[in-house]
Amino acid sequence: MWKEKVQAYEDQIIEDLKGLLSIESVRDDSQASKEHPVGPGPRQALDYIYDLAKRDGLTTHDVDHIAGRVEAGAGDELFGILCHVDVVPAGDGWDSSPFEPVVTEDRIIARGTLDDKGPTIAAYYAVKILNEMNVDWKKRIHIIIGTDEESDWKCTDRYFETEEMPQIGFAPDAEFPAIHGEKGISTFDLVQNYKGEDVDEPEYELYTFYSGQRYNMVPDEAEAQISVKENMTDVIQNFEQFLTDNELEGSNFVDSGILHLKVEGKAVHGMDPSIGTNAGLYLLNFLASLNLDKTATNFVQISEKFLFDSHFGEKMGMKFHTETMGDVTTNTGVITYHKDEGGKFGINLRYPEGFEFEKSLSRFENEIKALGFKLKVGKVQPPHYVDKDDPFVQKLIKAYRNQTNDNSEPYTIGGGTYARNLDKGVAFGAMFPESEDLMHQKNEYITKDQLFRATSIYLEALYSICVEE
Ligand SMILES: [Zn+2]
Repeated sequence: MWKEKVQAYEDQIIEDLKGLLSIESVRDDSQASKEHPVGPGPRQALDYIYDLAKRDGLTTHDVDHIAGRVEAGAGDELFGILCHVDVVPAGDGWDSSPFEPVVTEDRIIARGTLDDKGPTIAAYYAVKILNEMNVDWKKRIHIIIGTDEESDWKCTDRYFETEEMPQIGFAPDAEFPAIHGEKGISTFDLVQNYKGEDVDEPEYELYTFYSGQRYNMVPDEAEAQISVKENMTDVIQNFEQFLTDNELEGSNFVDSGILHLKVEGKAVHGMDPSIGTNAGLYLLNFLASLNLDKTATNFVQISEKFLFDSHFGEKMGMKFHTETMGDVTTNTGVITYHKDEGGKFGINLRYPEGFEFEKSLSRFENEIKALGFKLKVGKVQPPHYVDKDDPFVQKLIKAYRNQTNDNSEPYTIGGGTYARNLDKGVAFGAMFPESEDLMHQKNEYITKDQLFRATSIYLEALYSICVEE
């Protein structure tokens, strides 16, 4: 029955989605102002949703032009649907123009079709259809629209400063059947207290070391520059042997007495570092075999003692596992060293609910002190978890199963989704297990079947939670 309801709206759904996709809603700080806090594009996309709502007789509420909501339903309890209308930049290599949507027999192609404009329109239509059915609402619904999901979540930060937090809800910004748990995500730096006290004449002096740019990626390149006073050929031979032994690619050359060493690894997302190859930590592992100057030795020893070949916090004394959320993971994403400044490691640590984050970190801080390092904690997002047996999650899953005949279970991930902005929310669609994931990539598309099926699922789910009760 829900499928047939949606069928009557198919053409309108596509028209409204096309309009939203045509807006280049990429964050643009160079044009940020009070009128459009993250640039004109995201604001225009937000206003576009307000216009749809006004046309359809739904109330809207704006929050400083950076977020807002569409309101529906009635009752004491509030159900939240958290969407976003900003997109990542188009990037190169598209077969069509990314902000001129192309509609073919079976799909719609444009930036944002999957992330998150398609799912936003699907959820919007689910609410609109129920509203037009004049159902007897038992809950209020807020479709909360953010405009800065792809960058800093300034939208939800601002929104929830003043606006009501829904008791339950979902974010249609990931995958079906549902993601009910997300690890805590933290970044911290290990920073060397450089004292510049090397007076001895080391055989080898480390000048610079660079690897990686992002905390949440395993670095696939590393480079070191070393001054070698003697035995240059031996060092190079050992390095080549090291590459062979570890099945790594790499290269070296000598320029004015400075040896340049390069290692290549395999970049993967930092939420699962064990399947990548950390070029930086491997190169440090090689440097550990050289008799380096004192500062560099301490720098290299941090890696050897705590980081190298340790993806689950084991060497840092932070190994931890839960049945529902899996393991602590640690990724060393950024490594830098300069002979006049000392070294720094940038680490991304993800942890399940129950892990004693602060205690573990302060214990670790004491351990690295001995090697002349201090710990600097950056951003920390605590774990997000909703019991998958919670009645509302079960209703979401039931709607998904009814519309797909797929009996997959809700699951937890190491990454973060927009759902964690809700006190009690899960990520719910709109990608299906069989969808091709082109989020943030060229030629992003959503199939019409996926778009309409997601709408049916949201429709059935909202009906069972907000109408049937
Ligand atoms: Zn998204």
